[in-house]
Amino acid sequence: MSSVREFDYLVLGGGSGGIASARRAREFNVSVGLIEHGRLGGTCVNVGCVPKKVMYNCSLHAEFIRDHADYGFDVTFNKFDWSVIQQSRDAYIKRLNGIYENNLNGSKVELFRGKASFASDGTIEVNGEKLKAKHTLIAVGGFPAIPSIPGAEYGIDSDGFFELKHLPKKTVVVGAGYIAVELAGMLANLGSETHLLIRFDKVLRTFDETLSTGLTEEIDKGPIHLHRQTQITEVTKRSDGLLTLKLNNGNTIDEVETLIWAVGRTPATKALNLQNVGIKTDGKGYIIVDEYQNTSVPGIYSVGDDTGKFELTPVAIAAGRRLAHRLFNGETENFLKYENIATIVFSHPLIGTVGLTEAEAISRYGKENITLYKSKFNPMYFAVTKHKEPSIMKIICAGKEEKVVGIHLMGFGADEMLQGFAVAVTMGATKAQFDNCVAIHPTSAEELVTMRGGVKPE
Ligand SMILES: Cc1cc2nc3c(=O)[nH]c(=O)nc-3n(C[C@H](O)[C@H](O)[C@H](O)COP(=O)(O)OP(=O)(O)OC[C@H]3O[C@@H](n4cnc5c(N)ncnc54)[C@H](O)[C@@H]3O)c2cc1C
Repeated sequence: MSSVREFDYLVLGGGSGGIASARRAREFNVSVGLIEHGRLGGTCVNVGCVPKKVMYNCSLHAEFIRDHADYGFDVTFNKFDWSVIQQSRDAYIKRLNGIYENNLNGSKVELFRGKASFASDGTIEVNGEKLKAKHTLIAVGGFPAIPSIPGAEYGIDSDGFFELKHLPKKTVVVGAGYIAVELAGMLANLGSETHLLIRFDKVLRTFDETLSTGLTEEIDKGPIHLHRQTQITEVTKRSDGLLTLKLNNGNTIDEVETLIWAVGRTPATKALNLQNVGIKTDGKGYIIVDEYQNTSVPGIYSVGDDTGKFELTPVAIAAGRRLAHRLFNGETENFLKYENIATIVFSHPLIGTVGLTEAEAISRYGKENITLYKSKFNPMYFAVTKHKEPSIMKIICAGKEEKVVGIHLMGFGADEMLQGFAVAVTMGATKAQFDNCVAIHPTSAEELVTMRGGVKPE
């Protein structure tokens, strides 16, 4: 019988949450092991935020080229070579994988390469080796979901998007969430004939209604072809490799080179054999945790995407680090409060959001206690261009003191604008304090400290 290796802390999954928690725990001088079966860095580094942002930046160039002539540049556009950006993007990620490994080595976290699962004796198995720990963190993330319709396997998912060797001539993206609108926006701006199929009438339906409507209206203007209330019922592959998609409305989309499913993600919990230790999951396989990230089994915790709460890298990192402080540095009340989490959607145009949506604010404070400040304007970048893209800003305030409880942005610069305002919202700033801040001119951000004429929700 093989012996059991023991650690103070064992982390399952070397992605955003796992690595952050493991390294932070080492700062408190406990022994830490980490098990990863794929590339270090997890979803974010390999098939998420990082390569996505590189491709978004790439697609921004296409947008700027569109406006060059309006700014007086006589530039001839010859071609776009996907392989150039693909190779430099992949090389960058490879460097990051190496940096993550060096960081783990530098922190003296012992790395196990292989797939972890719980054995019936409660130990954790990896490559036939048995491990156990006083405290165990599960941070195994998730993977893209594929619908079960005939021919679904001819499509790819967001992981597959990052393996594409060239820009497809014609792409269909299915989904209305942030990954779907981001991928569709990049592909369309880079020149692929891109169709976005959504089940209902708007994209980003869980976002504030103003943003969901605003972005849907902008997408409608092109270059994405938006198909509302549309679902694929069958996919067939022709002898030339192109796909034909049968739709629920009786129509077909033909000659599709690439079909991308972006219809949600599945937690990677099934392979863990959680039933062997009795860890409870919900109907979709997400690990149920309390506010301290405790699972239903004492000494076993979970953070990140596999808990299904705010599936974002900084959230997994923050929850993982705080857990390490709580477990190994006596900070018993150090845990992540899942509120005022700011996020950006790298759509065209950009979306930024922090705090409550209008609907959430109304249900928390009551309609009569909410004041809304809204603005829609043409940002100065587009003052001299033929192509126009509006910016939308909305501030949601609660109570007589008009505490800012939500900020929702669409448009140029929203990505770099939001973080500072998220600090203010987290600190509990009021509209009067926003107004008291002298504007920076000329920027789009100045609108956020100069908005007047608050209205009640309809
Ligand atoms: C296309 C896309 C774009 C995104 N863009 C953004 C963005 O712009 N901003 C943002 O904040 N977030 C973004 N995200 C989300 C972000 O990537 C995730 O929220 C984040 O990576 C979650 O971290 P995690 O630690 O929970 O899981 P992961 O990073 O997924 O890490 C889990 C790790 O566990 C490993 N693993 C799984 N099962 C086992 C096992 N049994 N044994 C051993 N190892 C295992 C996996 O290989 C993986 O490395 C994006 C995601 C996608 C898919």
